[in-house]
Amino acid sequence: MSDSKASIGTRFLLYPQSPTTPGYDKPELVWISDKQGSILPGPQNARMYVVDPVDPKEPYEYPFLPPFHGAKAPPVEPSPDGHFDHLQPGSRAFLCAHAFGCVARILDVWEGYLGHRINWHFADTYERLEIIPHIDWENAQSGYGMLEFGFRPIAGGGEDLYALNFDVIAHEIGHSILFSEIGMPPVGLPPGPDLHAYHEGVSDLVSLIGMLHFDTAMDRLLRRGSGNLMALNELNRVAELADERQIRIAGNARKMTEVGHEVHDRSRPFTGGFFDALVQTYHDLAVERGLVELPHGSIADARDIDQDLEQTYARAFEADYDLKHFQLKACLADARDIMALGLAKSWGRLDSNSLSYAGAAFAVCDALQEAGHGNVADTVVECLAWREIITPYDVHMMGQGRSRSAVWI
Ligand SMILES: [Zn+2]
Repeated sequence: MSDSKASIGTRFLLYPQSPTTPGYDKPELVWISDKQGSILPGPQNARMYVVDPVDPKEPYEYPFLPPFHGAKAPPVEPSPDGHFDHLQPGSRAFLCAHAFGCVARILDVWEGYLGHRINWHFADTYERLEIIPHIDWENAQSGYGMLEFGFRPIAGGGEDLYALNFDVIAHEIGHSILFSEIGMPPVGLPPGPDLHAYHEGVSDLVSLIGMLHFDTAMDRLLRRGSGNLMALNELNRVAELADERQIRIAGNARKMTEVGHEVHDRSRPFTGGFFDALVQTYHDLAVERGLVELPHGSIADARDIDQDLEQTYARAFEADYDLKHFQLKACLADARDIMALGLAKSWGRLDSNSLSYAGAAFAVCDALQEAGHGNVADTVVECLAWREIITPYDVHMMGQGRSRSAVWI
C-alpha cells in the first residue's frame, strides 16, 4: 500500500438515525480518519475495540466490569483493502462495525473542533474503550471503560437496536468527551445544581452537531422545509414532529422557570437556546450572502411570531429554493461549525467542580469572540437570556468587559 493511499482514511457505512426512522433506512458512506488498513479485525484500534459475546450478556454492574471474559464471536474482518463498508446491513458483523464507526466518527468531528486528541477519562484504569454492540437488555449504557447496547422492543415483535442508533451512541460519547474536557464530577461533594443538566444538554448537542455532518440529514432537513429552519424550532411546533430525535429535543421552547429539577428536563433550555442561536446564525449567513431577504430582528425577538411573519419566512426561503439549496447548505454547515467551535472551545474554560449554566454560556460567548465571531456571541446571549439561562444579574456580574455587554439584554 502506498503512503498516499494510506492517508485516505477508512470507509464505514453509518445510519444517521435509527434505520426505523422514516427516510433513514439506508446507511451513508462515511470516512473515518484512521489510515486505510490500520483498523484491525474487531474492529479495533489503539483506543477502542468491539467484543461480541456469543451468549446473551447481562449489562455490566459492579463488581462485574470490563474486560469481557466470556466466549466471543470471531472478530469482524475488514475488506481486503482495509475498509469496513463491505458488510451486509442487518448482519451481526455490520452491527459491530456500525457501533465502532459511530464512536470513531464522533471523536473525529469533535477532535476537529477542539483541535486536539480526546483522551479517555478512564485512561488510568483502561487503555481502551470496550464496545459491546448487543446485550440482553432493553437499554444502553456507558460506564467507566465501556459502552454497551441493548435494544428497544418494537410493537409486533423485533428489536430497534441501539448499536444502530447514531444518536444514542453520540449522546453517550458526548458524556465521555465532557468528562475528559471539563473533568469528572467532584468526589465527596455535591455537584453544582447545573452540572448534570449541562452534561445531558451538551451530550444532546454533541449528537445534533454530529448528525449535521451527515449529507443525508442536511439534505432532508433543508429540503423538507425548503431551507426554512424556522419550521424546525419551537416557533411553529413542527419540531415536535421532526423525524430526527435531535431536532425534537433541540427545537423546544422551555425556559428555566418552566422546568423542574429532573436533569433531562432541566437540560432543555440550554439545548434549545443553543439551537436557536444556530438557526439565527444560519439565517444571518443566508441574508449576508444574498440568498434570502428576511425581516430584521432576531429569533429571540420573534417569540410572539404571528402567522404573517411565519409566511414571510416560508416565502423568502421557498422562492427559487432549488437554485439555492447548495448555497444554503453551505450556510448551515458554516453556522454548525461556528457554534460547535464555540461550544468545544468553551470547555477549556470550564471546570466540573464549579460549573454553572451562566458561566458555561459566557464561556461559549468568550470562545466565539476569540474566534472572531462577536456577532454570534451576541446572538447566543440573546437566545440564552430569553431562556433565562443568563439573567440581567449575570450580565452585570460576568458581562463586564465583554463586547456589547451594555446592550446584551
Ligand atoms: Zn445522558
